Amino acid sequence: MTVYLVGAGPGDPGLLTVRGSDVLRRADVVVHDRLADPVLLDLAPEAAERIDVGKNPGGPVDQEAINDLLVTHGHAGRLVVRLKGGDPFVFGRGGEEALALAAAGVRFEVVPGVTSAVAVPAYAGVPVTHRGLSTSFTVVTGHSRASVDRDTNWEALAQAGGTIVVLMGVAHRGEIATRLMAGGLGPATPVAAVHWGSRPEQLSIRTTLAALGEIPLAPPATLVIGPVAGLDLGWYEQLPLFGKRVVVTRAREQASTLSASLRNLGARPIEVPVIRIDKPADRGADLDRAAAGLRNGDYQWVAFTSANAVKPFLGRLHDARDFGAARLAAIGPGTAEALASWGLRADLIPERYVAEGLLDVFPDAPPGGGRVLIPRAAEARDVLPRGLEARGWRLDVVEAYRTVAGSPEPEVLDAAAAADAICFTASSTVTRYLELAAGRALPPVVACIGPVTEATALDAGIEVTAVAGEHTIDGLIDALCGVFSDRP
Ligand code: SAH
Repeated sequence: MTVYLVGAGPGDPGLLTVRGSDVLRRADVVVHDRLADPVLLDLAPEAAERIDVGKNPGGPVDQEAINDLLVTHGHAGRLVVRLKGGDPFVFGRGGEEALALAAAGVRFEVVPGVTSAVAVPAYAGVPVTHRGLSTSFTVVTGHSRASVDRDTNWEALAQAGGTIVVLMGVAHRGEIATRLMAGGLGPATPVAAVHWGSRPEQLSIRTTLAALGEIPLAPPATLVIGPVAGLDLGWYEQLPLFGKRVVVTRAREQASTLSASLRNLGARPIEVPVIRIDKPADRGADLDRAAAGLRNGDYQWVAFTSANAVKPFLGRLHDARDFGAARLAAIGPGTAEALASWGLRADLIPERYVAEGLLDVFPDAPPGGGRVLIPRAAEARDVLPRGLEARGWRLDVVEAYRTVAGSPEPEVLDAAAAADAICFTASSTVTRYLELAAGRALPPVVACIGPVTEATALDAGIEVTAVAGEHTIDGLIDALCGVFSDRP
């Protein structure tokens, strides 16, 4: 099998290439560095072996050991992904790994990545070339004594006149600046120093060559030196939720859309899966009966009040034909979307995405009566069944799933307590979060998806900062953006 040397990009998981994501999804083994984003590691199949070869308390695993590991797994016929920061062949020691694989007769492919040398300046609003300012850029390491003292001709670089991008140069930044000035660059030459570029933790500092040695700066950072660093086309740090740490309390399976939207707006989601979606207590016996009833034409309507109920129920049907003439109601667009992924279009979606809203628009039962099936969570409000009964319908409320308490690690709960905001997407997440947080502080901003969740929070003595106008994930995000545009 093949060993793929894959560039993961500089930090933002969205900068992984399509090809990189394709091989990750097929990986048997992923060999990664310590800081690889968990979002990327999650792309690999659950059964894939994940091997962290990054710096650990005992020091970094040495390169030879990594090479051996790649050769061994490659020989064993596994699909191996060696996931590396940025581009594997830009100061990534990918060349050494490729040499070792070639020498051992193991097939390899290289999947280039978006290098930090270009992407980090871009996220800080600095184009590495720009008409009239720079016609070239040089990427150089400032890592070792040797690279600063001997291997790099800094004076010649200064003479060359293009943009200079220094990686691994934090420790020696003062000496590098001195050498470049000795080579003829003016002390006022603009410099952008970017720490943790393309991540919500990004910190970019504009300075000059003369002052570079004095500014506080921690690794990892990329230095961009030259007139282009005087341009400020910043956009990333201006995103509405940039740098905000936002707690996502949904079950793991549901968290990803909310987390992805938060990330796209510059936030760092902290996923605290306070609930877990589990099988119904009877393992689905009632659902099976309901499915048989549906095939039999027993129901005029099937109403879904959560996307979570869609898969357990639809998975029990032969296919969509089982619905026959039955009509479909969905409480909101998220649930409708879940139905759409099974090729089903909801006949009824209310304007307000709460049980009361669905009740408002639901038709009365026909004169001879009729039956409605509601597959839903074990514990749920009675508003819809009661209301429909009052309108002449007979109801079958069937347990499709249970929400049970998740068990997040204490460190995750500590990180959540220190976050900037928390999102609650259901009453159950409020209750479970408070149980699990065990007295830890709540983040200063609390956002709820709708009035029912808000009421649960208020009952628990929580001060709610914002409630989504539209009771969807997008509405919740809008509410958060509103809060942070008022108080940056
Ligand atoms: N192969 C990588 C570079 C590895 S060397 C690539 O192509 O990007 C590691 C150096 O890259 C760091 O010391 C730092 O200078 C730079 N770097 C990597 N990620 C960075 C980030 N998110 N922000 C700023 N600099 C980064």
